[in-house]
Amino acid sequence: MITIDVTHEQTVALFGLGGSGLVTAAALMAGGTQVIAFDDNPASVERAEAQGITCADLRTIDWDCVDALVLAPGVPLTHPQPHWTVEFARRSEVPIVGDVELFFRQMAKAGRPAPVIAITGTNGKSTTTALIAHVLKQAGRDVQMGGNIGRAVLDLDPLSETPANQVYVVEISSYQIDLAPSIAPHVGLLLNLTPDHLERHGTLENYAGIKERLVAASDLAVVGLDDEHCRAISGRISASRTPLVTISKDGAADVFFADGKLIVDGDMVIDLSGVGSLRGQHNGQNAAAAFAACRAVGLSSEEIQSGFNSFPGLAHRMEQAGHVGDVLFVNDSKATNAEAVAPALSSFPKVHWIAGGLAKDGGIGSLAPQFDRIAKAYFIGEAAGSFASQLPDTIPYEIAGSLKQAVNHAARDASLAAGKGAEAVVLLSPAAASFDQFPNFEKRGEAFKDAVAALEGYVPIGG
Ligand code: ADP
Repeated sequence: MITIDVTHEQTVALFGLGGSGLVTAAALMAGGTQVIAFDDNPASVERAEAQGITCADLRTIDWDCVDALVLAPGVPLTHPQPHWTVEFARRSEVPIVGDVELFFRQMAKAGRPAPVIAITGTNGKSTTTALIAHVLKQAGRDVQMGGNIGRAVLDLDPLSETPANQVYVVEISSYQIDLAPSIAPHVGLLLNLTPDHLERHGTLENYAGIKERLVAASDLAVVGLDDEHCRAISGRISASRTPLVTISKDGAADVFFADGKLIVDGDMVIDLSGVGSLRGQHNGQNAAAAFAACRAVGLSSEEIQSGFNSFPGLAHRMEQAGHVGDVLFVNDSKATNAEAVAPALSSFPKVHWIAGGLAKDGGIGSLAPQFDRIAKAYFIGEAAGSFASQLPDTIPYEIAGSLKQAVNHAARDASLAAGKGAEAVVLLSPAAASFDQFPNFEKRGEAFKDAVAALEGYVPIGG
């Protein structure tokens, strides 16, 4: 845990007592801050009190004595409407911040002795964060990874006595940037920007503006050039004095992806063609960003290549689940809408595609450009009928009902297709939520992997 003493002897109101809220309260208290915490859920309040955190209904306290309100990142600051604690804080002109703000203030106070690499974007944040952390770890660095992935930022280890070897790699959501006016990483990455979470940020301009703040405040900005919003941001950064490295998954940029390779100054610096966990053009974007960040903290291309080669990938995001004969099984359970499925379908010449669950708005119509990748579809869950009706007549499908049945049938059909030239792939990439059949996408992904592991002739990756 990182002790926060920049608010020493101040009084801080804290709302949201989930995992990161509890850590934030402990970090503040350890540094001598008086914390008054609350949550709408009485069970969370009880749990916090059991850990020695002072709790009180924040409607009843004297806000004139409060120096700051710390909000958990899930609590709305502006949209769809400000949380009631925000109204109280504003009335008393109390600044509103999040745990990421406290982290950066504390780092600044310590003189920024260890580099902080901060990653944001609409898609690919977790993959890029985990990839950078993995490569740095393989190169012998003491890596502290967290933020919007894994451990909360204040749960990370404090600065070591040899901070030169230490590096913080933090995934930052737009919600967290919104609550962090002092954010100032050494290396800030903005991968891409597409409409998402607009219910929380109002307009796309507002959402883009929040993301831009992270890279604009970095010592070195790494910005993708693959969408118009990021291109505009990169133009503004380039016009400012902030050093900039541009990246792209398919076009001219300082580091770009082409034909399975990363190119810098006309030379190939990384070969991704043999890296199964980084298939697809979208991962070319993630890898280009990771390359730029790792170079910025002193790694050689050889060290980065070696780290990429051993990257296991993230669970449930195009995760390689194993082989049966020449058939590869891929678990992309995290892809809960058509937009997230498109890169997965595009990553393989032909797939036996398992999809369905609880349908979201939009269905699978937007996947039409990828339909020619589908050898056969196996639909499950509530969405099965509606997904089937959106496929053109030329593509075979079956309504498989359960996930296990879909895996068994897809495995049988794919093994017949294997060996005829193209790689045979069975892909779970559902384009739907899991809640009709599973508690969450993780459980759905685990069920897929269990069904694959139960197939005769199953060989795990690397096995
Ligand atoms: P995030 O943390 O931003 O939600 P993840 O790394 O968890 O992103 O990836 C979630 C899904 O988004 C993946 O399954 C993949 O289909 C897709 N994805 C990953 N990287 C990118 C990218 N750079 N551009 C577009 N889509 C991506």
